[in-house]
Amino acid sequence: MRFRLHNIRLGLDEESSLLPQKICRKLRISPEELLNCQVLKKAVDARKKDNIHFVYSVEIELPEKTGRRIAGKHGLTPVTEQPNAPLVPGNIPLGYRPVIVGTGPAGLFAALLLAEYGYRPLVLERGYDVETRTAKVLDFWENRALDPECNVQFGEGGAGTFSDGKLTTRINDPRVTRVFETFVAAGAPEEILYLSKPHIGTDKLRAVVKNIRNRIIELGGQVRFQAKLTNIFHQHGAVTEVEVNGKERIPARAVVLAIGHSARDTYRMLVEQGFYLEQKAFAMGVRIEHPQQLINEAQYGKYANHPSLGAADYQLVYKNKELDRAAYTFCMCPGGQVVAAASEKDTVVTNGMSYFARNSGIANSAVAVSVLPDDFGAKGPLAGVQFQRKWEMLAFQVGGKNYNAPVQRVEDFLAGRASDNVDLDLASYRPGITPADLHGCLPEFVSEMLEMAIEDFDKKIRNFGYSDAVLTGVETRTSAPVRIVRDEEYNAVGIAGVYPAGEGAGYAGGIISAAVDGLRVAEAIIKKYRKGEETD
Ligand code: FAD
Repeated sequence: MRFRLHNIRLGLDEESSLLPQKICRKLRISPEELLNCQVLKKAVDARKKDNIHFVYSVEIELPEKTGRRIAGKHGLTPVTEQPNAPLVPGNIPLGYRPVIVGTGPAGLFAALLLAEYGYRPLVLERGYDVETRTAKVLDFWENRALDPECNVQFGEGGAGTFSDGKLTTRINDPRVTRVFETFVAAGAPEEILYLSKPHIGTDKLRAVVKNIRNRIIELGGQVRFQAKLTNIFHQHGAVTEVEVNGKERIPARAVVLAIGHSARDTYRMLVEQGFYLEQKAFAMGVRIEHPQQLINEAQYGKYANHPSLGAADYQLVYKNKELDRAAYTFCMCPGGQVVAAASEKDTVVTNGMSYFARNSGIANSAVAVSVLPDDFGAKGPLAGVQFQRKWEMLAFQVGGKNYNAPVQRVEDFLAGRASDNVDLDLASYRPGITPADLHGCLPEFVSEMLEMAIEDFDKKIRNFGYSDAVLTGVETRTSAPVRIVRDEEYNAVGIAGVYPAGEGAGYAGGIISAAVDGLRVAEAIIKKYRKGEETD
């Protein structure tokens, strides 16, 4: 009989090999009665700073007799989950390969599922393969040479390739497990299957992405880089063809639009082609950098440098009821670095990443403020894009018009005066930084909320408002400022066969939820269409 058991504690110095012993003691059974034990979750409980420990949830197998004797006691819950119903392909002939646009998590996972079911997808990616892309991104970070077609937002693996590879999600969907298992099969560390805050790190993620691409190809899919979707043709409410790089036309009956939140030219093309897009709230703000040791001490107290804990993180929210706004920390990267994430010339955009080891010694996080369609100050579906661009261009100017990012000490930001220097050991943004006043490239309501939020967060995390902490602006690409509206069958409203998916479509936020959305859309295609020899 199989059961789940929660809340098993292990000290920071105790090996996980002690788990079976702890379980037997808790259940008052002999070691022989514990037939099997699998860790489902491992979390750090740091609520009491003088007693930080690990908490485990496990699935165990017990002999029938033991199971019956202790079922319902000691917090044991029987495992009753049924296996997922198999996916039954539909009957409508697809005629052509399904086309997947974008190789971020949404596109990759949609393509992989379709490939596994024999649909031999054609994957189009505007940027380069991950190795060439890495060289291009480094060229920007070192030599200020931005390629608008291949950068931190565009290219194989999508926006998360140069990230912390945090795999936390708030969605509760059975497909999440499939995503984790796929990552592990593609080379991610196995611990992501059970850690409560799993992460891969940019170094391992790059290899994982490449392995998923190769698997798609092995299964009969085709992956084309430097292949930008430039048009979609439709007739009588259904897609007929896609255009690549402004010249090649490919017939299509199912097209997954997994374009991410930064494909502004593609958004414009969709509007021109009659797709229904609407404004959507997002968030903007700045990156904040602290010494990692400061965060470790605030979160772990006397255990700050305990080898089994690693670099500490945080997640904070400040709500101002009067202003009806929220500010929150977002995409926190322990032991990471702030990265230049622009995708358009003459703009500055920040984001954060880290390597698997998270050992840079610097903690960074976005501190972002909610931005609502009313703040965009214009009508039309792409008003949010215009709004983002305006502040990104201002940041470029305040930074010195050479891709340096404007930076400011927290103390100066709160005092409303420009910084004339910052702690260079803390400011990790490349290619360079310019001490300045960030108020010059942030909307007033964002600056005001950031000031209040930093003061509030200082009460929640000791020294969060550390005077020499570095703020780098501007962080605008937190999520899409627009939604490509779709119907209950995941088709773009009014245009059958086009399936908007992932973050750019406005239906996901983060690596895991984007991947899950890609799977959802691929399932909808499989359930509707029949694959066939003709899908070439
Ligand atoms: P994307 O990943 O944006 O992929 C879209 C793809 O489509 C891109 O590869 C792009 O080149 C391609 N494309 C766009 N237009 C076209 C076109 N016309 N033709 C062909 N191809 C096109 N999330 C987390 O959960 N954890 C993190 O730690 C994390 N860190 C991040 C760090 C950074 C620096 C960034 C930028 C993002 C981070 N995110 C993180 C967010 C996460 O990356 C996104 O939520 C996720 O990648 C969205 O997936 P997606 O597939 O919807 O879109």
